Amino acid sequence: MTKTALNFIGGKWQPARSGATFETRNPATLEMLAYAAQSDADDVADAVAAAKTAFREWRLVPAPRRGEVLYAVAHLLEERKEELSRLMTQEMGKVLSEARGDVQEAIDMAYYMGGEGRRMLGYTAPVEMPEKFGMALRDPAGVVGLITPWNFPVAVPSWKMLPALVAGNAVVWKPSEETPGVAASFVQVFHDAGLPPGVLNLVLGAGPAGEALVAHPDVRVISFTGSTETGLKVYARAATMGKKVALEMGGKNAIIVLDDANLELAVKAITWSAYGTTGQRCTATSRLIVQRGILRALTDALAEKASMLRVGYGLEEGVEVGPLVNQKALEKVEKYVAVGREEGATLAFGGTRAGDTGYFYAPTLFTNVSRNMRIAREEIFGPVLSLVPVDSLEEAVEVNNSVAYGLSSSIFTENINQAFRAIRDLTTGIVYVNHGTTGAEIQFPFGGTRGTGNGMREAGQTALDSFTEWKAVYVDYSGRLQRAQIDNRE
Ligand code: NAD
Repeated sequence: MTKTALNFIGGKWQPARSGATFETRNPATLEMLAYAAQSDADDVADAVAAAKTAFREWRLVPAPRRGEVLYAVAHLLEERKEELSRLMTQEMGKVLSEARGDVQEAIDMAYYMGGEGRRMLGYTAPVEMPEKFGMALRDPAGVVGLITPWNFPVAVPSWKMLPALVAGNAVVWKPSEETPGVAASFVQVFHDAGLPPGVLNLVLGAGPAGEALVAHPDVRVISFTGSTETGLKVYARAATMGKKVALEMGGKNAIIVLDDANLELAVKAITWSAYGTTGQRCTATSRLIVQRGILRALTDALAEKASMLRVGYGLEEGVEVGPLVNQKALEKVEKYVAVGREEGATLAFGGTRAGDTGYFYAPTLFTNVSRNMRIAREEIFGPVLSLVPVDSLEEAVEVNNSVAYGLSSSIFTENINQAFRAIRDLTTGIVYVNHGTTGAEIQFPFGGTRGTGNGMREAGQTALDSFTEWKAVYVDYSGRLQRAQIDNRE
């Protein structure tokens, strides 16, 4: 029997008010998986109203108690990890081991943010007058709207909803239309963990549901992860209403390989970062910036390693590269491979579809790419790597920093001086040394510069910033009108 994924509003599973649905399909087998609620502005309004009501009580629950709900979420996620991971592979295609990693990030985040329930640190500082006390506290923002992509269907939402919830906010979540089943199962975990009705609401659907969430006057914060194109639209709309917005958008991440790099290590890291999750990680490596002395050896070793990758259905044992998420993604990859050929880059390997059914594409490498080619500047979001040769560390850093995005970068060198110069000069939000561009840990800030973000960060000590407002409190216990008030300071 075909399943139906429903909205979760005010603690109840329900179809879209209009009754509209959309279908989801397995990108590897193309079999139909489920119908899902196709929500519109009416459903969003119901969810926001439920969140607004629930916020009144949730913000008063002591933060350590809210943290305990998150610990219960972590335990349940551990129990349901396999079930969620398998569903994820079926819905969006990443191989099972990667899907498990996706769920594990949410588990890590739930423990980390559960602990925040007993920290949520503010501060005190000396004040200018006698018998007066000053402190700064974090307040929840209110009803927050989350809009997320399909490529990390559990991890990315968890980076948003766990800090939002522990801080005392109520949430309305609009996940990607590619992964409604995983989204519903994830929300069920929070319900089963004892989160009160209305504190977390799920509205399934596509762009219009996201637009309605952004435009709703009672939603004070929008936290968005997705493409730069959509993110900038969200930003522009939210700005007209004076909302706080956190954006995590596209990338064009690079690995720099210098002549003195450990070749074997570099090749392993490149293969995993470029072709893992079929190149559809936000931190995936899509550019290689290689010093000329190691160019030949690196290209040969990479071709050999890539030829051994097993492309196929992610639920099958031994498969390392799954399908692209949908037909549109496949067509985009095909388009960029054609662009690369027209621009005069050399197709070293790949460049074709793989398999008969499903949206599979062979791991692909273009060499002799110049920094100005479109395949070296634009996000392709597939298993296509563009190799730009350079002469020096300085040139490598300049090429890395010259694109419109700035999420993650990496350098392979055995020379500590070169490594530290790169750390100083690379202008991405995440920098790795002798490691691929993927694998961020939740206890550090996550996000990017330039076209990747708007200066906000997720996770780490910055996790609460998007979802809280600072409140400065002054307590005068002198019993008289002191000079600061007479001076009429701001
Ligand atoms: P997308 O922009 O197509 O969709 C993202 C979300 O926005 C979806 O939920 C979608 O339904 C919603 N949406 C679409 N139109 C909207 C509108 N007009 N108003 C409001 N919401 C709208 O992105 P995607 O294809 O789901 O994800 C892939 C992209 O996400 C890539 O560009 C990737 O780099 C990026 N990404 C970035 C990070 C990061 O942390 N920087 C992480 C993961 C993915």
